Amino acid sequence: MCGIVGYIGRRNALPVIIDGLKRLEYRGYDSAGFTILNNDEKYLTYKKAGKVKDLEDSIDYNVYTGNIGIGHTRWATHGEPTDINAHPHFCMEGKIILVHNGIIENYKSIKTKLESEGYIFKTETDTEILANFINYNYKNTKDFVKAVQVSLAGVEGTYGIACLCRDEKDKIIAARKGSPLLLAVGDGEFIIASDASAVLNYTRNVIYLNDGEMAIITKNSHILKTIENKEINREIEVLDMVLDQIEKGGYEHFMLKEICEQPESIQNTFRGRINFTTGVAKLGGLEKVLPRLLEAKRFIITACGTAWHAGLIGEYLIEQFCRIPVEVEYASEFRYRRPIINKDDIVIAISQSGETADTLAALREAKKFGATTVGIVNVIGSSIAREVDAGTYIHAGPEIGVASTKAFTSQLMSLALITMMLAREKETLFSKTLIEMAQELKQIPDKIQRMIDRKEEYKHIAERFKNANNFYYLGRGVNFPVALEGALKLKEISYIHAEGYPAAEMKHGPIALIDENMPVIFIAPKDRTYDKIISNIEEVKSRKGIIIALANEEDDNIKNYADYILRVPRTLGIFAPILNIIPLQFLSYYIAVFRGNDVDKPRNLAKSVTVE
Ligand code: GLU
Repeated sequence: MCGIVGYIGRRNALPVIIDGLKRLEYRGYDSAGFTILNNDEKYLTYKKAGKVKDLEDSIDYNVYTGNIGIGHTRWATHGEPTDINAHPHFCMEGKIILVHNGIIENYKSIKTKLESEGYIFKTETDTEILANFINYNYKNTKDFVKAVQVSLAGVEGTYGIACLCRDEKDKIIAARKGSPLLLAVGDGEFIIASDASAVLNYTRNVIYLNDGEMAIITKNSHILKTIENKEINREIEVLDMVLDQIEKGGYEHFMLKEICEQPESIQNTFRGRINFTTGVAKLGGLEKVLPRLLEAKRFIITACGTAWHAGLIGEYLIEQFCRIPVEVEYASEFRYRRPIINKDDIVIAISQSGETADTLAALREAKKFGATTVGIVNVIGSSIAREVDAGTYIHAGPEIGVASTKAFTSQLMSLALITMMLAREKETLFSKTLIEMAQELKQIPDKIQRMIDRKEEYKHIAERFKNANNFYYLGRGVNFPVALEGALKLKEISYIHAEGYPAAEMKHGPIALIDENMPVIFIAPKDRTYDKIISNIEEVKSRKGIIIALANEEDDNIKNYADYILRVPRTLGIFAPILNIIPLQFLSYYIAVFRGNDVDKPRNLAKSVTVE
């Protein structure tokens, strides 16, 4: 995820581009760059790791004057956030200049093909491959538009791009699939941008591009086409949103936006890593330590907060399906209790930011003992990502809301992929089962969307409980950590006391707290623990507790027991936590909103905990 701006018109392009990039920084902020066609018809590029402000502070605007340019603020997915990996990217000959938002899933096969044609690459990015691919196709077609079309037809993955060509200096070509892009139509000027916040200072007239569409823009014309070269007529829309609404994609809070982004973020986590026909999961970042993973006597997962809950779910998955013993440790405890770590242990650190101080320290501790370290991290090039022996990025995109939502489900998806990869290698699952899992995995984004479409139902229940003082969250097996995570979400943003418990543990103490004022959320999907959970519901019900059941869509029986029902689609056990947490995220979000809390910046919390 990143922000793109392109400008062509009567003004100096750079101030418009920098201004736009600053507004798009919530989409990514690890490096930034631009290319301007100056008044001597020369392309001048400047790019740099760091925020847009760092970029701005280190340039002289007077050097970069010209009316055409493109810019980018990056959220790295391929290659660390270094100066060289920052966008724009050039093809080897320097003819094609490209900014890109998204992931070119099949970049490796394109790279191999181009290498056989003598192409050499300077960066670690997928974007540079695309720039060269366009160049390669330009050589054959001698036509910039066609070259872009042919290239994009051969690309798998997602892109929003703005592209320049030295042979056709008068134009910018923009195109999108899966990443947002719009064309703003001003008075004698056009701006391409990832969202409208970047253009509002200049115009409110915009055309939103749809997937598979492109815009060919010159100083005084814009043509819209599909990638297949069909012309498109699209009316200009006049925006009536304010800036803040646009950055949040029209949502009231970043947290809500991020909850609703999960069909997409989950897809980004598994994109290019699973073959749906063979069930083979492949995580490139773990390949070099794969033999060690397979020989390991034990995995230790270490993390804090929400990531620790993901780790607990990882324990269930890896033990059940790969038969490898797993321990899950709070990073803050692990490092201070003289843990026993052996050379053949695998220590997995999970952290959204990759900067969590305790997790980083636990990792360093593990390294001292010679264990192999693995990271499951969102932020590319973060400290944990750099210090581990190997790792996998979850590719959830920037998470701005303090209460983690989409990073959690992407961590779970990464753990599911690791489980599938190891189970195949260790032959602890039949390939038929792995194929079934892969087929089901494909459905997960749609199933999440189904819950997003039900959000009013969840909101309704949230309203009923907005004044509650306590909550219990109960689940069994892999849904016990989901209960913990559900309770944590509620505490974080609504400030209501909530506890997660294994459902059967209730009767060993906490049941004493049940009375007619206590809402109890039971995570009760139709799996092998269903009948047991029903018994646990009966236990609470007979003490007058209020039952909120999270149950599968087709489960009619649950109506006999529950006062309120949060419906979720049914899935395989390996993916169930990914779905089951979604209604709980909505529930805590809406309760917090009803209580008037600052959802994106809950009191006392920080997004990335970089202190011990
Ligand atoms: N995949 C590209 C990169 O890593 C673009 C990432 C983005 O959307 O910022 O550079």
